[in-house]
Amino acid sequence: MGTTHMAHCGTLFIISSPSGAGKSSLIKALLERPSADGKLQVSVSHTTRAERPGEVDGIHYHFIDQPEFKALIERGAFYEWAEVFGNYYGTSREWIDEQLAQGIDILLDIDWQGARQIRAQSPSAKSIFILPPSRIELERRLNARQQDSAEVIKGRMDKAVSEMSHYNEYDYLLVNDHFDQALNRLSAIIEAERANTDKQAIRYQDLLCGLLAE
Ligand code: 5GP
Repeated sequence: MGTTHMAHCGTLFIISSPSGAGKSSLIKALLERPSADGKLQVSVSHTTRAERPGEVDGIHYHFIDQPEFKALIERGAFYEWAEVFGNYYGTSREWIDEQLAQGIDILLDIDWQGARQIRAQSPSAKSIFILPPSRIELERRLNARQQDSAEVIKGRMDKAVSEMSHYNEYDYLLVNDHFDQALNRLSAIIEAERANTDKQAIRYQDLLCGLLAE
């Protein structure tokens, strides 16, 4: 397999959901699957929101303050950025372009506003929306987290409904009722996109040359 002609054969996957739909657990499990095998990476966003207990700077997010965030916007460092729940979140462009060029698929855990910006710039990006199985279960999951105040949880419930109203802008819709089933479906979407003929033709250029030689 050739490694010199891997230009831009990775795929950008956008994954959105309301808080509490189980998106983070699904992404974590997806990356731990043997099939991910370094061919799939999750982008670490920059944010101005406060670190939650257990979060690590550089792993869950790059935690920065507002002036730093604004400076990055000015420099055009973000592929997309948005204000979500009163904080700024953004996806840095440089790292993503490097990974895609190496044929690595990237997961973007971003909201619907960011998803729109990515689609406008990268029409080949694939987007997946994850729904909770019911409104009651969503409320239960938001309460079970117990890292945020009741006021924050109430605010998130309202925001969850407005986030979910954008489900029809996405290529794929998953309901996270049974975790393993949702994980298998998410993995199947990613594997199918990976087998896209145009992208495989770049990855397997040398193989194809050899196979098709007269
Ligand atoms: P949380 O603060 O709970 O980690 O994330 C809140 C929301 O912000 C989630 O819906 C998440 O997908 C979204 N988000 C996280 N990083 C980014 C980003 O870089 N850009 C955009 N547009 N949204 C993001």
